Amino acid sequence: MSKKRGLSFSELASLLEELEGISSNISLRDKLAEFFKGKKGKIIKYSSYFILGRVGPKYEDINLGFGNKTMIKIIAGAFDEKEDKVKKIFDKKGDLGDTAEKLNKRKRSSLMLEDVYKKLHKIKDISGRGSQEKRAEEFSELMKKAKGKEAKYIVRIALEKMRLGVGEMTVLEAFAKAFTDDIENKKKIEKSFNVCTDIGELGESLSKHGLKGAKRFSITIGRPVEAMLAQRVKKVSDILEKIKGDKIAAEEKYDGERVQIHKDGNDIKLFSRRLEDITHQFPDLVEYVKDYVKSKKVVLDGEIIAYKKGKILSFQKLMQRRRKYDVKEYRKKIPVVVFLFDILYLNGKSLLKKPYPERRKKLENAVDKKSKKIRLAKRKVSKKFDVIKKFFKKSIDKGLEGIIVKSTAKDSVYQPGNRGWLWIKWKKEYSEGMKEAIDAVVVGSFHGKGKRKGGFGALLCAVFNKDKDRFETFTKVGTGFTDNDFKVIGKKLKKIETGNRPKRLKVKKNMKPDIYYKPKLVIEIIGAEITRSPSHTAAEKNGKGLALRFPRFQRVREDKAPDDATTIKEIKQLKK
Ligand code: ATP
Repeated sequence: MSKKRGLSFSELASLLEELEGISSNISLRDKLAEFFKGKKGKIIKYSSYFILGRVGPKYEDINLGFGNKTMIKIIAGAFDEKEDKVKKIFDKKGDLGDTAEKLNKRKRSSLMLEDVYKKLHKIKDISGRGSQEKRAEEFSELMKKAKGKEAKYIVRIALEKMRLGVGEMTVLEAFAKAFTDDIENKKKIEKSFNVCTDIGELGESLSKHGLKGAKRFSITIGRPVEAMLAQRVKKVSDILEKIKGDKIAAEEKYDGERVQIHKDGNDIKLFSRRLEDITHQFPDLVEYVKDYVKSKKVVLDGEIIAYKKGKILSFQKLMQRRRKYDVKEYRKKIPVVVFLFDILYLNGKSLLKKPYPERRKKLENAVDKKSKKIRLAKRKVSKKFDVIKKFFKKSIDKGLEGIIVKSTAKDSVYQPGNRGWLWIKWKKEYSEGMKEAIDAVVVGSFHGKGKRKGGFGALLCAVFNKDKDRFETFTKVGTGFTDNDFKVIGKKLKKIETGNRPKRLKVKKNMKPDIYYKPKLVIEIIGAEITRSPSHTAAEKNGKGLALRFPRFQRVREDKAPDDATTIKEIKQLKK
């Protein structure tokens, strides 16, 4: 390894190969920590992205624009083979990375980690006319320099098909072990990751400064922080017990899509709850922000709602705005407004540590109050709980989901990524005695019979074990689907089918589904009660896991990433 140029890509490829063969989460973490230890700076940054199968942080749109077809062409061109032959090998192997490895005869390579990172970034940034061809040309050049094993992983990174079974939590734990010598520090590092959501930057900083490196981050424009979340209570009177401050603030709870708006002059970016850049989906919202947000540099938090002719449209309607194409048409068909409820940054200063009443005041000053498109969340502030209860009832009568009660105490700071007692949600469902909905990841399906023949009969669903960074099964749901749900979900599932059990999934033998899916799709489910069952693996104890009885499908939650699914910790709370 030459000191000047960092790490050879082949060294990273060897690590990736080793990780591929490991199934235990602890061993994955240890292997990663061993690799990180003693390395510093950009090497950590670049390799963290690659290990997670990406080219950059999660909030950057890093799609290189290659599909299987283009990749087959590129592989054929780079290794001087006929496309048919490449296709044949692909059919047999089922993976284009393996295909590239087989066809690449090169024994030596001088590719450095940095070369690969920079080249992939260069490719990502190519745009305009003929960009497809230029991208392919550049990628082909990279392939020609790689040796077999390297080609395999470069292809997998480019196609976003890395299957190591390593999640972000595992990488953070490996950072803790490698750079602070104490796994227990993972919690602190995780907290910092909620603010600096760029895992590469965070790793780089830790590698240079140890644990101190975790504390150097604050919010900046262009880099979203994780969204603050709300706790739930069982009885409305519990709110009073939990909420602090001499006054209670209650805001209407809107059922739409969470959005974090970053405005830097005329440069506006919108990030979703899962921190994807959704700016291109909402050109209308970008205009409204330009027109009605007065502050120059600001980060705002709110909820996008589909809104037509004075009426709030359903969450499902809003989800139709999640699209790459026909954006213009849908902008007209499904117009949106945004309800803002927080401000996190203003003209060079972070507001994360300011109490809620101060933030709310600043928020009110930041927007043009006359705007019908950018609105403020309606609220009631009172010392009397009865007033809050009335506000709740009024919100429900208006057709809203419920309210979010917010602490007004001195410590009512904005906590990125945290589900704490500073915000408490109260929904109509709770007052009707129904259980809170669970957001579960679809990990498998069982074939349907009779009317459902050819599609799925039931879905195997899992919740997220954050400590172990894996998915554990919790329920099998076969009711609540409309005919249209079957069609739409069936189509989505087809794209994420996988032959084998995903590495991050724990499943019992007696629950083995007919088809496995990559843990990607999140659905909302309600159920009657949580019990222990020998068929599920959620928080397993003495061979029995927690399980949801009489589950019923509610809706697809496209706004949630698998790691945003309900966690084991929350399930345990719900069971109490
Ligand atoms: P749910 O499934 O109930 O929508 P969730 O898991 O998406 O909940 P919660 O923490 O339970 O998230 O509820 C907070 C969510 O409610 C926020 O993520 C936000 O999208 C939405 N929301 C709507 N109105 C408000 C508001 N006034 N203040 C804060 N969050 C709000």
